[in-house]
Amino acid sequence: MNTPLLTVRHLCKTYRRHGQSIQAVDDVSFTIQPGETWALVGESGSGKSTTGRLILGLTPASAGEVLFNGRSLLQQSATRWREVRKDIQMIFQDPLSSLDPKRTVGYSLQEPLIIHGIGNRKQAVAEMLSLVGLRPEDGARYPHEFSGGQRQRIGIARALILKPQLIICDEPVSALDVSIQSQILNLLMKLQREYGLAYLFISHDLNVVRHIADRVGVMQRGAIVEQGSREAIFTHPQHDYTRYLLDAILPAQPVGLGKPRAVANG
Ligand code: ADP
Ligand code: MG
Repeated sequence: MNTPLLTVRHLCKTYRRHGQSIQAVDDVSFTIQPGETWALVGESGSGKSTTGRLILGLTPASAGEVLFNGRSLLQQSATRWREVRKDIQMIFQDPLSSLDPKRTVGYSLQEPLIIHGIGNRKQAVAEMLSLVGLRPEDGARYPHEFSGGQRQRIGIARALILKPQLIICDEPVSALDVSIQSQILNLLMKLQREYGLAYLFISHDLNVVRHIADRVGVMQRGAIVEQGSREAIFTHPQHDYTRYLLDAILPAQPVGLGKPRAVANG
């Protein structure tokens, strides 16, 4: 067995608010192999985004361990963090959150290269825009001039420009129309094949996850209640909560992997 790209062990996060403690992430463990898509699914508030933020060190963990290529991430010097942060990037539901409205898209794409002292930036930006299905000239335009789907393409270009090994995608298509969703998912899968990228794909939408995931973890109230291959989760769910989530999507999409289960009329 290869060393996993990412290992998350017994990760915990307790928030305190108004004297109450909230166990947002409760003893979460999983591994992601290079080049695979590992999906974290669950309803709103189950702790998915917090898990992503803990991995990136955007919020400190209460307990547990995160290893990247076998090396611990949580107790790192600032310098080592900057190095690792090149290899782990993030895509958000709202790509505008990572774009400056007053700067051209080309500038926003160059910014990670500037931070990491990488040259040949104009060319890198033009290549990246083409790669995500935009035109090199689009670099001269501003974020508000693009549609939602185009903005997410820009978000993907910005995440990809440092050639990371892992991208944490937090609800990347949740704000988009279904037809645009599949374009973006297909783009993510194409980029994965070309660059051997791994994704931690966070989503509340099992229809999306069914499309893109290799393995799936189901999260409820901060804990992963079940994890397995896409096929195992969608055709042989073991946990009641997984069945509950699947029942909620079946009427909308009865065909998929394996044999569809009967849906009551009415
Ligand atoms: P999800 O992404 O699955 O919707 P989150 O990780 O955003 O869930 O939230 C998990 C739980 O942690 C929720 O109860 C949420 O209210 C709480 N939470 C998230 N961020 C904070 C914060 N900064 N301070 C306090 N509580 C938080
Ligand atoms: Mg979230």
